[in-house]
Amino acid sequence: MKKFTPTYVFDSISDIDGDFLKREGISCVLLDIDNTLVPDNAPCPDARAEAFIELLKRKGIKPCLISNNKQSRVESFNAKLGLKAVHRAHKPLTRKMLRAVKELGAKKESVLFIGDQLLTDIYAGNRCGIRTCLVTPISLERENCFFKLKRFIEKKVLSRNFR
Ligand SMILES: [Mg+2]
Repeated sequence: MKKFTPTYVFDSISDIDGDFLKREGISCVLLDIDNTLVPDNAPCPDARAEAFIELLKRKGIKPCLISNNKQSRVESFNAKLGLKAVHRAHKPLTRKMLRAVKELGAKKESVLFIGDQLLTDIYAGNRCGIRTCLVTPISLERENCFFKLKRFIEKKVLSRNFR
């Protein structure tokens, strides 16, 4: 079960504080796109996504997009942002993610992966040996059962010491 347990749990990227990331020693954030940064298949970043990426940059944290979606979707989403981006990442496989971490010049201990899916994002990050953060899928933000599951995981996570 540990492989599916995120290091951190937040309701949304808007709840992730830049100072918290700095305190935790994060220098690089890998980001899932669909349902993490924006609603599923939203063509371009919205205000929330842009604000979060700006926050990361302001704190000197490198953002990198890691999506299982196809090249055209990732490229058009990233057109304005101009971030390092990996399409067809094949999460939960780790090869492309590990290559991105290497190319970013980041140490694994300082990398955080943020995603909305336990079985792809969190599992992939944990397999890579990096820290992971689960957010509520944007399309489910108002659904109760997921919040209950998250509260359950959150309690489990918080009951352990953070790495
Ligand atoms: Mg997603």
